[in-house]
Amino acid sequence: MRAQPEASHFIHGVYREETEGPEFDSLYPATGEVIARVRAARAAMVNVAVASAQTGQKEWAAMPAIERGRILRRAAELLRERNRELSELETLDTGKALQETLVADAASAAECFDYFGALIATLSDEHIDLGGPFAYTRREPLGVCVGIGAWNYPIQIAGWKAAPALACGNAMVFKPSEVTPLSALKLAEILIEAGVPKGVFNVVQGDGETGRLLVGHEAVDKVSLTGSVPTGSKVAALAGEGLKKTSLELGGKSPLVIFEDADLDDAVSGAMLANFYSTGQICSNGTRVFVHRSIRKAFVEKLVERTRRMVIGDPMDEATHMGPLISQAQYDKVLFYMRLGQAEGADLVYGGDIAEVDGFADGWWVKPTIFADVADSMRIAREEIFGPVMCVFDFDDEDEVVARANDTEFGLAAGVFTKDITRAHRVVSRLKAGTCWINNYNLTPVEMPFGGMKKSGIGRENGKAAIESYSQVKGIYVESGPVDCPY
Ligand code: NDP
Repeated sequence: MRAQPEASHFIHGVYREETEGPEFDSLYPATGEVIARVRAARAAMVNVAVASAQTGQKEWAAMPAIERGRILRRAAELLRERNRELSELETLDTGKALQETLVADAASAAECFDYFGALIATLSDEHIDLGGPFAYTRREPLGVCVGIGAWNYPIQIAGWKAAPALACGNAMVFKPSEVTPLSALKLAEILIEAGVPKGVFNVVQGDGETGRLLVGHEAVDKVSLTGSVPTGSKVAALAGEGLKKTSLELGGKSPLVIFEDADLDDAVSGAMLANFYSTGQICSNGTRVFVHRSIRKAFVEKLVERTRRMVIGDPMDEATHMGPLISQAQYDKVLFYMRLGQAEGADLVYGGDIAEVDGFADGWWVKPTIFADVADSMRIAREEIFGPVMCVFDFDDEDEVVARANDTEFGLAAGVFTKDITRAHRVVSRLKAGTCWINNYNLTPVEMPFGGMKKSGIGRENGKAAIESYSQVKGIYVESGPVDCPY
């Protein structure tokens, strides 16, 4: 097995093996080859991980913020030094093209450790003048946080959660998706090497049952999940029983609106980035592409011509644009929607089927797919597919497209392409989405908050907003005179 870790879990600075939990395989999606085998944590191991986090958190929170920041920035350097090796591991575990993992996975996690490592010592609390007495605030950690990740950006998700959580003085127990167990273990090793005390970042492998054990654990103070809407509801309900703080980064069916004055080449680039990056497995993807009727024909022609030129193949070849889907289950789901779109009467203008890739007969390959003449009521227009399937709609005016763009239970992201700056800002202000792009799509710099409205989530990752998700404010009143008491 090409990527077998030393053991399944990383707790209190060392690898630990599980004896109770079920075994599961990690597969290379390009070939279906087993690359590693780990065991899911059950109650005893979850207890060990949480107890270790409680111990580590006390030591970590007692350090000055500037020292915690220095250690996190050292972790960022180590992530960058090992970017190639981490990217290759991520490509093996996810099947995503190395061209992408080299720039968007460990590199994004590194940015996050840099940003929060630098930010934390600069945060200052409030002094509030009360005319003699005064009050001040202290921002304090929450304690032990649980992070649960999806499979599309394993190390990025671990970094986006761990960096702000640790910067604020918390410890984290992280459970990667069972489909992609490997890179979070490497992050745990790197954090120890950078100087984070033992127990501050533990990784336990597991399935939904492991997730439930973590979320329901009485010593856990906060849960941050990246996953689907149904899992988000379950996690929020269980966390709610213990009144635990919860952040949820969930799914989407985001709109991308292209007005008639947009630069056509840029708009096509935006639509492709919004649908085909990571083989379409991105929560914020702009899968509903609304194109002004007057440019729709030209737009679709250019889009098809450029999509035809995409290189699908060996994910480890840096010339490859698109790798396979993550798993058999995702492959079956995406193919189902590709067929459903045709059955629903949408116009299939490109793809719509499996892709044959020489030398990779057993991988989960599909073609990038474009449907035009999609009606708002079709299931392909309403349900999250999480694969490279773009739906193109026509529209005539701004009010109409804003109403149609917002007509969804999701609210993760949205994009607008136009050269009219007043229209760009006006439209973005009316779109019910937590993250919006003007004249680009799917860029997520760590400095910018990211997260969803409506059913797409609660709370924000990245930016200063993430500090709110991992800390709590204490208000302290200080008397300056005698106590005024009526008794
Ligand atoms: P899932 O919701 O299936 O799983 C997410 C994580 O939750 C996994 O680690 C999973 O474990 C775990 N889990 C499952 N059930 C429970 C439970 N009852 N209690 C606690 N944890 C549980 O999502 P996927 O992994 O399939 O990821 C795809 C989804 O994630 C898409 O909907 C996508 O939109 C969303 N996503 C959102 C992002 C965002 O930032 N908004 C970013 C990336 C993806 P296991 O893997 O073992 O099932």
